[in-house]
Amino acid sequence: MPDANVMEKIVSLCKRRAFIYPASEIYGGINGFWDYGPLGVLLKNNIRDDWWRNMVECPPIGPDGHPIDMVGIDTAIIQNPKTWVASGHAATFADPMRKCPACGNSFRADQVWDILAKQSRWFDSLLQEFTPFTGRIDTPRLLHWAQGKGKRLAPNLALVRNPQVTLSWLADRVNSYPDQSPTLPQLVEYLATEQYAATGPQTPCPECGGPLGEARPFKLMFESYAGLVQDEDHKVYLRPETAQGQFLNFKNIIDTTRVKIPFGVAQIGKSFRNEVTPRNFIFRSREFEQMEMEWFCHPDEAAKWYEFWKAERMKWWRGLGVAEANLKFRDHEKDELSHYSKMTVDIEYKYPFTAPDFGELEGIAHRGCFDLTQHQTHSGQKLDYFDQELQLKLKAEGKSEEEVKARSRYVPNVIEPASGLTRAVLVLLCEAYTEDAQRPSGLFLKFKPKFAPIKLGIFPLVNKDGMPEMAEKLYLDLRQKWTCEYDPKQAIGKRYARMDEIGTPFCICIDGQTLTDQTVTIRHRDTMQQDRIVMDRVPAYLSERL
Ligand code: ATP
Repeated sequence: MPDANVMEKIVSLCKRRAFIYPASEIYGGINGFWDYGPLGVLLKNNIRDDWWRNMVECPPIGPDGHPIDMVGIDTAIIQNPKTWVASGHAATFADPMRKCPACGNSFRADQVWDILAKQSRWFDSLLQEFTPFTGRIDTPRLLHWAQGKGKRLAPNLALVRNPQVTLSWLADRVNSYPDQSPTLPQLVEYLATEQYAATGPQTPCPECGGPLGEARPFKLMFESYAGLVQDEDHKVYLRPETAQGQFLNFKNIIDTTRVKIPFGVAQIGKSFRNEVTPRNFIFRSREFEQMEMEWFCHPDEAAKWYEFWKAERMKWWRGLGVAEANLKFRDHEKDELSHYSKMTVDIEYKYPFTAPDFGELEGIAHRGCFDLTQHQTHSGQKLDYFDQELQLKLKAEGKSEEEVKARSRYVPNVIEPASGLTRAVLVLLCEAYTEDAQRPSGLFLKFKPKFAPIKLGIFPLVNKDGMPEMAEKLYLDLRQKWTCEYDPKQAIGKRYARMDEIGTPFCICIDGQTLTDQTVTIRHRDTMQQDRIVMDRVPAYLSERL
């Protein structure tokens, strides 16, 4: 999709056609939160149901040709806060942020220099004074910049506020080490520092040039309190991922169901992250929904299952109708891995705002035995697994009693495919969005019929002459099976246009001819072609196509 404005058009279509509204809009909205409208909730539920069906009710066949074991779960959003200490989120789920006391802007500590280089207006302007960079300092030129452009663009930069003192520190440095010119970042730090001896080098704010404060962790978990007393001891967290619910219930599931290793526990639900910069519509929000499955397996088999789930998950995304060219795998580099992960691969999608690059859609992580071991340590409860089948196999192989005992009890490894349901909604919207100058709406949403919020529009051609009665009767019949919309008002062209815009695959029209020969027209969304068929055949005709 080469059109740079396509995202804006999708956002506006979503609002106009009841898919997604900004949350609390009448109060000016709230950054990072969205409401799903009457059609958005249908689309989201269709994706949710398909994941659940493919994961829990009808999971894939395993590599040995037999069905695999899978159960579903729905756990509380708020759990005992020790959960997040054990999982590592309490200590590590934070971005280090640096705030500028002068202008109030905050920046991710690890991104400040990158932002200076790519987005800061004053830095870009100052750089011109050093281009090409030789390390030589032209004081009159810097003073001239500080009193002109600098004053306007970087009012809080030390060089602008107090050029004499700032430049004298820099001169000291140059005179002390005549053979070692400062590098560009060192130079910039000097220009951002007024009292070098007292404060040491300062990092300038990309916005106003003022010295940035120390890096402080910005916690991504939302906090609240449970119970009457609202103090530290009663603090609770809104979960930042659903996965911990599966780990907390590992023992319950082993004890109360008939699953045996390997097996999976799947969950769909809301997660919350106080993202520093929620952006790109629903791509990164502060409240979102996840579809996560924890696959518990023997440590020796984890690599095999990692490959299995990688392939299965990609197959599922393609099954949603997402074009192969818009999907790809990306392995995480070692320094990018989460604290719990041994290996992670992302499934990425070519979003309109990342194109021609890709952005994350789902992560498939090899979590090793990290989570169960942590919860075992922190809760004092045994979370290992006794593998009776393995025990029998090892015995039959004539292994020693000690070896059989040692190997048949273990803490399982976990492979986790974790995807965003709300991100999947965005992907299907982007994928379905098709401009078409030939039709009155100028566009249509080309959803696979299975995911379309409304499957059928049912219209009388005109709202009189017995047509509405026949159309309503047909509607009452067909809505038993499919999500239908009955609409008797407006010109027929407008009704078709609206159905195109919301991605309805078929529209049925009752017209004058229906009254005489009991036939109706069925209009196909993608081709706009119309078939005329006998009303009695409509259910069979649609069953074949929906
Ligand atoms: P990102 O790198 O995009 O922040 P992540 O690697 O932190 O994501 P995971 O913790 O692996 O994400 O979560 C699994 C999935 O949940 C992601 O692949 C994504 O689809 C979804 N997800 C994560 N954070 C958000 C968010 N803030 N808004 C919407 N979906 C999200």
